[in-house]
Formats: sequence, C-alpha cells, structure tokens
Amino acid sequence: MIIVTNDEGAAGVEAAAASLREGKAALDAVQAGIEPVEADPAIRSVGRGGLPTMLGIVECDAAIMDGATRMTGAVGALRGYLHAIAAARLVMERLPHVMLAGEGAARFAGEMGLEAAEMLTGEARAAHASWVRKRGLDDLVNGVAHAPLTSLAWPMPTSRTGGTVIYLAMDRHGHLSAGASTSGWAYKYPGRLGDSPLIGAGIYADDRCGACGCTHTGEMTIRCGTARSVVLLMKGGARVAEACHEAAADLGDLRGGFLGPVVIHAIDRHGEPYALAVNAPASIDFWLWTHDLEQPQRQSCAQARATQGDES
Ligand code: ASP
Repeated sequence: MIIVTNDEGAAGVEAAAASLREGKAALDAVQAGIEPVEADPAIRSVGRGGLPTMLGIVECDAAIMDGATRMTGAVGALRGYLHAIAAARLVMERLPHVMLAGEGAARFAGEMGLEAAEMLTGEARAAHASWVRKRGLDDLVNGVAHAPLTSLAWPMPTSRTGGTVIYLAMDRHGHLSAGASTSGWAYKYPGRLGDSPLIGAGIYADDRCGACGCTHTGEMTIRCGTARSVVLLMKGGARVAEACHEAAADLGDLRGGFLGPVVIHAIDRHGEPYALAVNAPASIDFWLWTHDLEQPQRQSCAQARATQGDES
C-alpha cells in the first residue's frame, strides 16, 4: 500500500493512509485525502479559500481515475460546491460521460446532493479586490466586467499563486488510483481549465503500469500529455524515475507559450515512488506513506532542469 501526495495534500494524508489501512480501495483513499484539502480555507489554491478568476469567482477543477478499469471522471470550472473531487467521482460512477464543465457541472453536483458552499472567503475576496485595483479596473470587484480581459492574462508571472492537490494511491489489492483538485491559477481568465481535470495531462492511472499526477504549469502538461506519457513510458519498460525524466525532457522541448515549472509525481505498478520538480526555482517537497511507515514522511522531490525557451 502506498500514498503519494504533494505538499498541498498534507491536510489529508493521514485520512488517506487510514482509509487504506482500513482496507478501503485506492479510489476511496484518493478522495479521503483530497476532501480535507478542499475544505481548508487556508489553502489558497484548492477548493474553498482558493483565489478566484479575474472576475472574482472561484472556479474549481478536479479529476479522479481508477487504474483497475481506467474509468475516470472530471469536472471543470465548477462553481459553488465544496468538493469538486466528489463531483468528479460521481461523473465517473453515475454518467456515461467523463467530464462536465461550468453550469452543467454545477447542475450535476446539485442533483447528486453535494454540499453547496460559498467558495470565496473574505481573505480571497480582499486579495482579488487589491489585484483588480492595482490595475484600475474597480468594476471587476463587483463582477461587472465588460472590459476586455485578455490583456490582464499577460504577462503570466510565475509568482502568481497556483497549486493543486494531487493524490496517487495503491491499495492492498494492488489497484491504483490518481486524483487532483484545484482552483487553478489565481486570477485566471474565466473558464480557463488547467491540466487537473484533463485525463492524461494532470493525472493518469493504469494498474498495468503505474500512476502519475502533475502540478504547476498546466499549460505545459496539457501540451505534452505528461501524466499519460509517464505511464506509457513505464508500460514500455522504463523505471519510474526514467519515465519522469523522459517526460521532463519532453516538457523542455516545448517552444513558445507560457513556460514555467512542473512537478511530476509517479508510482510504478509495484508501488515504487518518484517525484521530480522540473525547472522549479526552489526545492519542493512531497509526502509519502507506505504500509510499513507509521507516519507519512515528507521528502524532497528530485530536481531537473529542462531546456526551455521560445528562441526557435
Ligand atoms: N496545474 C494547476 C493548473 O494548471 C496549477 C498548479 O498546480 O499550480 O491549474
């Protein structure tokens, strides 16, 4: 049994480990790990307390995948519900679809009886108001935005708060699952989807070879299909570390667009973990729990530099 989560996942790692110890499935452990993070208003990049779009509305993305069946569910730009990961799981279990976005996602969450919540905290509202005022666009504070927003999206500084919670789990039967939940980049363009709800970009799980979850610059992992790439590389025989470095090199070959750091977390089908921070400005930690550890342990991600630039 194993759990891998990133630093944002700290609030749920005990619950996720307890769930596996009790004999629950990897899917349950992933959801058990993510929900406390979504509910924690102090975490400014996931669920309640997440920083909003340019218009001051919190829009959440989440996905979950079952490695045994490769069934998956996702929601994008979900407004007004506390647990995007629960909505994603219900998409997988209750619909013939794999992804719902926007109004449809919110409608479905309501129909499933999920908890509605005001996701914008006072602190996040104030942070948004100050971001808007600095740009002289006071109307945006009230969500009355007729002003074109495109120019506000550039430049996209890496200092803008991002953050995602990802969980990878292997249960006692050797089944794998991966999940992610995020409110995405702070002050993103309304409707912007990152990699977290996109299967193959932000997460992927396949019992036959391994599981992967990515954080940071979703604009890059979407272009490379990074989570699926790592899993496919393992399917082709690469060790988990080799697969992550190969995927990092692929990210490094991107040209143009918004380029920034990416963190890749993976486990192979035997439960061997690896976490690689690509082009990260500082050291980044992740959490690891295995059945022989009493407490989850915080560890440092390996670091890689991958050449980047739009000089071509
Ligand atoms: N990957 C997330 C996104 O692009 C953000 C993050 O993890 O920092 O929405």
